[in-house]
This record gives sequence, structure tokens and C-alpha cells, in this order.
Amino acid sequence: MKTAAIKIAGAVQGVGFRPFVHRTAEKYKLNGFVRNATGSVYIEVTGEPDIIKRFISELQRKKPAAAVINEISVSIRKKTSLHEGFVISKSMVSDEMKNIIPDIAVCPSCLSEFNDKNNRRYHYPFINCTGCGPRFTIIKDVPYDRKNTSMKDFKMCPDCLKEYRDIKSRRYHAEPNACFVCGPGARLADRSGKTIKMKKNTGSGKAQELFRGRSDAVFEKAAELLKKGAVIAVKGIGGFHMAVDASNERAVQKLIKRKKRSRKPFAVMSDDIRKIEKFAEVNRKSRALLNSPEAPIVLLPLKKNRVIAPGVNDGLAHIGVFLAYSPLHHMLFNSQTDALVMTSGNISDEPIHWEDKEALKTLGNIADYFILHDREILLPADDSVVKSYKDRFVMIRRSRGFAPAPVILKRKMPRVFGAGGILKNTVCFIKENRALLSQHIGDIENNKAYDFYVDIIKSFMKFYSIRPEAAACDIHPDYLSSRFAEEFASEKNIPLVRVQHHYAHMAAVMAENAFEGKAIGMIFDGTGLGTDGNIWGGEFLTGDMKGFKRAGHFAYKKMPGGDLASKEAYRCGISVLRDFLSKDRIIKYYKDFPAQQILSAVENDINAPLSSSAGRLFDAAASILGICHKSGYDAQAPMKLEAAAYGKKPTRIYKAKVKKEDNIYKVDTAPLFAGLWEDRKKPEAAVNFHAGIARAAARTARIISDETGIRHAALSGGVFQNTVFLDMILKELKKNGLSVLIHNKLSPNDSCISFGQAYHAAYNYGKRG
Ligand code: ZN
Ligand code: ZN
Ligand code: FE
Repeated sequence: MKTAAIKIAGAVQGVGFRPFVHRTAEKYKLNGFVRNATGSVYIEVTGEPDIIKRFISELQRKKPAAAVINEISVSIRKKTSLHEGFVISKSMVSDEMKNIIPDIAVCPSCLSEFNDKNNRRYHYPFINCTGCGPRFTIIKDVPYDRKNTSMKDFKMCPDCLKEYRDIKSRRYHAEPNACFVCGPGARLADRSGKTIKMKKNTGSGKAQELFRGRSDAVFEKAAELLKKGAVIAVKGIGGFHMAVDASNERAVQKLIKRKKRSRKPFAVMSDDIRKIEKFAEVNRKSRALLNSPEAPIVLLPLKKNRVIAPGVNDGLAHIGVFLAYSPLHHMLFNSQTDALVMTSGNISDEPIHWEDKEALKTLGNIADYFILHDREILLPADDSVVKSYKDRFVMIRRSRGFAPAPVILKRKMPRVFGAGGILKNTVCFIKENRALLSQHIGDIENNKAYDFYVDIIKSFMKFYSIRPEAAACDIHPDYLSSRFAEEFASEKNIPLVRVQHHYAHMAAVMAENAFEGKAIGMIFDGTGLGTDGNIWGGEFLTGDMKGFKRAGHFAYKKMPGGDLASKEAYRCGISVLRDFLSKDRIIKYYKDFPAQQILSAVENDINAPLSSSAGRLFDAAASILGICHKSGYDAQAPMKLEAAAYGKKPTRIYKAKVKKEDNIYKVDTAPLFAGLWEDRKKPEAAVNFHAGIARAAARTARIISDETGIRHAALSGGVFQNTVFLDMILKELKKNGLSVLIHNKLSPNDSCISFGQAYHAAYNYGKRG
């Protein structure tokens, strides 16, 4: 007999891990104990070494769905302890890293109780257990105990308390445990917040039946209103959604008009995967994603169908789909509802709303009704978005369900704060061997977003008790994030490291892959300030975690209108056509646009900054092909271009020229666009363009590789959210013999910037000077 000390770190608290250990220990007849430490679970068992081995292996194999094991260490004690039975002992608070669990979608066991007429929680909109339910969004403080959550004011009834204290129960220490009698409830309200009274119900008189009767009436009414075309603001897990029936074009148009967001595609929710299969292609990988505890929005190829009204999706090839992830969402569906539009309750680019008062004030003009509930959301988290792509996926937005789960690093590092950039921002804290990335904060361009940004930083520092030793931010001095970081660093008297945008992308993808060697960063995105003062965005950087050199880039083009060029693709189109087309022909082609003015602005260098942006090239192509001249929402033009290329095979590959000037390779896309121009009426032009850019980029990387001997390419930047392009470039790079690093946990877009900044700063901290 031996005594083993087992330490398991990761997302192992608040997910039913201790009861699971207890059950497993009993199964193997091992004596000992399990207890929570601050960021881990500690187990001691006494038994035959063989049995202990099998016990540990089962802990890893059969862990609860929402648990993540990051590290497991086992040591054999010198002295064998003779434990009696197996117990769960009191938590120990230690200095080691805390872990906060993301929100977890309703689990199959809870769902079957929810659907069981004889269960006391039949139809209870807040059913949860140790394996599922809200976590991150209801936490006020750590450790994760009921008193530190927004459940603290709900006193458990005797039945709930019994489960909470029963080690054999699925609800043993389920902090948000509740039922009809003692827990939160939902109500239907008009747009001013006044409760809409329901008809008297005929319950049996028992409190539970009475409350259920009321709750059912609320949701029956809501489902009925949705069927009739109403817009309902629904308070969920991480904030408010706007819901309308996805099959009702009139309702969809009403929502579009009231939300003032032109034709931005909406995500839709179903309560059953079989309903999703009526309108979208679901493969094995995407099915697993839809059903995962993280329950993200998955972008799926849209089928020809009769379910989704045309206004939902703006004619894109993909549609964002997710499964109802909270029992409250399930209540919104009945047998006639296949899909509901569920879009973030916010106004244009402001953060998602999460407080009742705020939501009523600002969403009151958009929604006809509200579904409100009295479990407070303390931290908002937008829905996460992933794009399914063959047997893998690309992260588009890492938020609810994923945040704040850490990215595990190769080794312990100094404590650093990464402030991020400006668009699609997150913040990142590095501590020990973890990178703690925040949920999606959004574009930090207005006060509300900035306040949210500061709140998140404060919350993270409190939850994880982090005192950064250094801060990192962009080289752009005017970003609100850079200004915050400056103040932060001077207040705390710590060094501030400024990191160029595209190099931050490169550091992010390398660090995510635990790669610290030399690589060729191929960073293709919309925009970022370069070290030469120009706008970068189609970059070939060579370097490692210490620093970088700009080895090449897409040839500069003038971007008439500056930032406006990202919204008005025709500006990019006009600019690239100048390379090979006469002024008259351009003006004739763009007769509905102020082409004359734009051309003269370019000629006279009036607000026409130089840009090497790859994103703008996709904008230009979308406009030249007449697919999209103005983006009504973020990246509409390139997304429409991708949709036009989706599922097609290239018939011709337009060629670019790669030349070396001043020791930097320049990818001249003029001949490539000339080819596109010739083919502008052909349906394959969009896919041919994708193939042309992919080949030109891979060839440039190959040339740089041959010259430098660097064999790894590191891909990052928003352009790689385009999976038609990603697929092509991966093949091209492989053909050219390069090993490729891509993001697989984080998004290639600017939400990874904070991580790249922080990692670079942490890596070099103390190594300089
Ligand atoms: Zn559950
Ligand atoms: Zn109860
Ligand atoms: Fe970027």
C-alpha cells in the first residue's frame, strides 16, 4: 500500500469535479480525501499502486464535460497514511493561481429533468447543476462560492439545500442551485419595464405548481408574441438578446430597421439540432461544437431552405447558428418555432447590455417586449463565434463559454498586462504559465466601450490578484488602450512596452503554438500603424519573440479617404485600377460614384495615406466585381467576396510580381488586378482572385525562406477568417515546403493583439538592459 498525492490544476472547480473524484475513489475502493485549493484540486489516496494508476487514468478520461485539466502531478508520499473511507474535506485557500470557470451550457441531465413532467424542476428556466449553468457572468468575487455570486440573495429551500449538501447529488455545491420555490423567476414586461399580468393559472396550490404555472404562462405568451412577429429583448446569461422569429421576413425587417444596422447578418438559435439541419449543413465537427459546453455560434454553410427568411443572412454562404444554451432559451421555443434570430442587444458598436435599467432605457425603442429575470448579470459576455471549416474551425470571437479560461503557456512568465489595440479588443494578463484573456470587449471608440474596458481590467486584477510588473500596448499613441496603458504604467511605476500591431499578431500566433524560434510572420489584416508611419496590413515579418524585421509587404497603394476606405470598397477599387486603367475608363466604370474627385484626391495626395493592407485588396476586388461597393457592416465587402468564391474551383490564377526594393520584398498586385479586370464578368473571378493572392503570398514567403533559412510561417490577421483563402494558402505554403503555425484557440483577428503584446513583453522582461 502506498499514499499518492495528486494535484490537478485547470478548470476543476465549479464543474462537479470533487463529487466526481469521490465517486471514482469509491469505485476503486480507495481511501483518502479530495479538497479544493485556490486554483487546483488536491487528492490524497492510499491503496495498491496499480489501482491508484487506474484511478488517475479514469480521472483524466471520464472527467466532467466542463472540466479542463491543464496539469496533473503525482507524487508518492514517503509515509503511507491510513485514511478511513474517502471524504471531501474543507477547501484550502492558497496563493497559487485562481481559476474562474466560463459559463457552461445546460447539460443533458438537467435538460432531461427540465423536460420531465414529474420532476420538480420541470420547465424551470434556471435549472443547473455542478456540470452546467452560469459561472463567470454571475461572479462578484473569488473564491467561487454562492455568497460571492449574484445568487447570494436567494436563500435555498430545504429541498435545494439537501441536494447542495449531499455528496451523492449532481447539485452538491452547485452554487447557482435553485428551483421554482426558492430561485430566480422570469417575467414578461412591456417596453417600459412594466410587468404584463398573466391570466390566473390553475395550479394545484402547492407553491411549486403556482410558480410553474406563472412561468409557463409568461413563456407561452412570449412564444405566441414571437410567432406574431414581435421583437422581444431577452435577458439571458451574458446579456440581452433581441429575438424575432427567423422565418418571419416582416419581423426580421422590423428588427433591421429598428436596430439601424443595415443588413448585418443575424445569428439564429434553435432548440434542437434536427431543426438546424433543415437549413444548414452540419458535419461531425460542427455538431460537436454546437453541442459543446461552450455552445458558441457556429458559422455553417446555409442550405436551400424554407426556414430562414431572406433578410436574416444578407445572402452570405454561411449562417451563424447556435443551440439554446440556457433553459430560459429553451422556454422560448415551441414545436412550431424552428429558429429565432438572437442578436446581441446593443446599439451599433456599443457593448452588449446586461443591466435591466440600461437595457430598458436603450433597447426600449427596438423591442416590443422584454423577458426579464432577477438573477443579476454581473459581468457581460457576448456570444462566442466560430467558423466551421472542413474538419477544423476558426475562432472568430472568443467570449462567453471560453473566457476567461486561460491559454496555457510553455512555462512560468513575469506578470504582464496587455492593453490590446482598438478594434475587436480584448485585454490579456499573463501570470505564471497562464495567459488570461478577457471576453470580447469590442471597438474601443466610444465612452461606453471604454468604461467597459476599464471595468474588465479591474475585475481581472481583483479575481486573479494580479500586480503586473510591466504593461504593453500598441505603438499608436492615440488609441484609448495605449493611453490607458501609459497611465496604468506610470501610476504603478512599471515599464511600458510598445508593440507594433502586426508583430503583436505574429507573437500571438507563435506563443499560442508554444513556438519561440524564428518564423516568417504573414500578417494580413485591415489596418495597423507601421513603424514607418504608414498603414500596414499585408506584412511579411521575420523574427522571433525578441523582435522583428519587415522583410516584405504588399506594395503600397493610396487609400483615398483614409479610414473611410475600409467602409467604402469602391475607393479601394478606384485606387487599384489606376495602376493600369485610364482615368476616363475608371470614371465611366464608376459612373455612380464620385470617381473624379477620388482620382484627383489621390493625385494630389489629399487624405490618401499609403497602405499595404491585404484587407483593402479584398475590398477592391469586391468592388471591381460589383459584388459590394459599400460595407453596411464590418467587413461586408470581403465576406461577400468570399461567399462568391465559396465552393468554386479556380480556372485561372492571376499573377502578381514580387520585386526587391531597398532590401524589402514588395508584392506588386497591379498585374493580378489587371487579370481580375479582364475576367470581371466571369463568375469564377472571385475564386481566381483568392487563388492569385494566396499564390503570390506563398511565393513571397518561399523567397524569404530561401534567403533567410527560416522554415516556419506564422499566419495571423483578420483576412485568415476567410476560410476559402485560408484553405488555399495552407496548400500553397505546404507545396513550398514551409511549416505553418495558425491560430487554433484564439481568433486571427485583432482580439489576439493583447495576448501578443503581453507575451512579447513578458518574454523580454528583465532580459533587456
Ligand atoms: Zn446540469
Ligand atoms: Zn429550491
Ligand atoms: Fe490586425
